[in-house]
Amino acid sequence: MKNILLIEDEKKVSKFIKQGLEEEGFIVETAFNGEEGFLKSADNKFSLIILDVMLPKMDGFEVLEKIRANKNHTPVLMLTAKDALSDKVTGLNLGADDYLTKPFAFEELLARIKSLLRRGEIKSTQMKVADLELDTVRHKAKRNGDEIELTSREYALLEFFMRNKNQIVTRETISEKIWNINFDTGTNVIDVYVNHLRQKIDGNYDKKLIHTVRGAGYVMKEDVV
Ligand code: CA
Repeated sequence: MKNILLIEDEKKVSKFIKQGLEEEGFIVETAFNGEEGFLKSADNKFSLIILDVMLPKMDGFEVLEKIRANKNHTPVLMLTAKDALSDKVTGLNLGADDYLTKPFAFEELLARIKSLLRRGEIKSTQMKVADLELDTVRHKAKRNGDEIELTSREYALLEFFMRNKNQIVTRETISEKIWNINFDTGTNVIDVYVNHLRQKIDGNYDKKLIHTVRGAGYVMKEDVV
């Protein structure tokens, strides 16, 4: 049984969604303002949260921000007003997983919910080198428990290093695997990227994980080369 938290202040809309989802076999808990919704979300028992943007006490964006600040990664489907493109962008930037524009057909809502739940079922895969952790589903890196912001290219590079731990990787291999091209040997693009990544991964820590192997490339390992 999947638990869904529905944060929606319009009684009629809330009732319509709740009834429909219950008929589909979901357990639905309702909240009628942002504050109540946020408090209920802290239970962490929900597989999904449906969150309206326009809410009394605390709007949907604020609720979403607080949910994510609480390290709660429950998928959030936002309900936005018609044509409010900026709402969609704001919501997605704050960590919403999808949005639906009001008014919507119940079938559309159900399809979005099922798709989000399927996505959530893919288990997080964690990789670890020393105190560096990588979540290959969420594309998040942590060092000593602190989250490290990475661009998508830096993430790809880091994942590649971690998968090839303790092995020397050459600049040629990196350019093939990460950029799918061979850079002119005269450019230092790879070194620039590796140095950016290194700054983020190793910059603030005594124990360095990315090492240069002179004349060969790089290696990720715990011990000093
Ligand atoms: Ca509303």
